[in-house]
Amino acid sequence: MAYITINKQNFYYNLNQIALKTGSVNKISIVLKDNAYGHGLKLMAQLSSEFGIRHAVVRKIAEADKIRDMFETILILGDTIIKDEIYSFVINVLEDIRQAQSGAKVELKIDTGMHRNGIAFHELDEALTLIIKKDLHLTGVMTHYRSADVLSSELFWQQKQFEKVKQRVKEAGFKKVKFHSHNSAAILRTKSFDEDLVRVGIGAYGYNELSKAFDAVPLKPVLALYAKKVSSRVLQSGNRVGYGGDFVATEKMLVSTYDLGYGDGWHRGDSTKPYVTAENLPILGRVSMDFITLASDKEKVCVMSDAQKAAKHFGTISYEVLTALNTDIEKSLV
Ligand SMILES: *Cc1c(COP(=O)(O)O)cnc(C)c1O
Repeated sequence: MAYITINKQNFYYNLNQIALKTGSVNKISIVLKDNAYGHGLKLMAQLSSEFGIRHAVVRKIAEADKIRDMFETILILGDTIIKDEIYSFVINVLEDIRQAQSGAKVELKIDTGMHRNGIAFHELDEALTLIIKKDLHLTGVMTHYRSADVLSSELFWQQKQFEKVKQRVKEAGFKKVKFHSHNSAAILRTKSFDEDLVRVGIGAYGYNELSKAFDAVPLKPVLALYAKKVSSRVLQSGNRVGYGGDFVATEKMLVSTYDLGYGDGWHRGDSTKPYVTAENLPILGRVSMDFITLASDKEKVCVMSDAQKAAKHFGTISYEVLTALNTDIEKSLV
């Protein structure tokens, strides 16, 4: 099967860049949802913890259970709210409070303009009252930005809304509440960070999805995807390769089949606009479920070392290219 290498040095380099923005490693909460953006949940949790990160974010309890011992707190974005020493749970709607197990740690998500999740500002007082009634522990108050990656006034407008939220929560007498709103794009563009935590995903994995209008913080891709040779053959001029025979050899050439396909989460793409691997080899013909063909006979080929470049080719974003990768592709540290 294809395999993935994880570059620890690059990961730590990126985390250092983020720590320079937050002022402290203690303020980084590493987002490990969706198999740590395809990088491997346990491996990235381990590396993060070794780096000194004490907080993590996942989607489900099942993910949190796998990395429980490595962090002081784990924020769970969307699951049944239970009482736990380490886990805290996002409240997305008032109903979540009613359903929560009493004694649970919760973090209130406020919709400041993205209109995807979170309670409205006018529901805040009711939420705080309900939280006390249900004997829940409010450990965090958060929001998410809809356009932190583009240059416009929208981010500032959402930030202003969130300032009002902070004010209100403090007035209501809640202490020890951590306020957090920044994702990668927001922290990478900020010049003055004064919150308690950042929830950083894509930036830690080496990608800056900010538009060119911003001073770029240099980051380094952490993941590289390799495929192994399955077999080689010599094509004669006129021979075709793969389903539909989309690629036609125009001369005698040596090609090999490699063990990566769309079944592994690699984009199938369009054979008339072939993807070119990190080693400059265009994929010949259509991508199969488990195979691609390249004009090479090397034992292994680096198919992708920059997910953003691949994403541009496929008309998507680095997040999608990375999270699409099969969870059981083997990973090793380099
Ligand atoms: C996924 C997610 C993040 C991380 O976003 P990046 O752009 O990858 O840094 C932060 N906050 C929430 C609520 C998320 O769902």
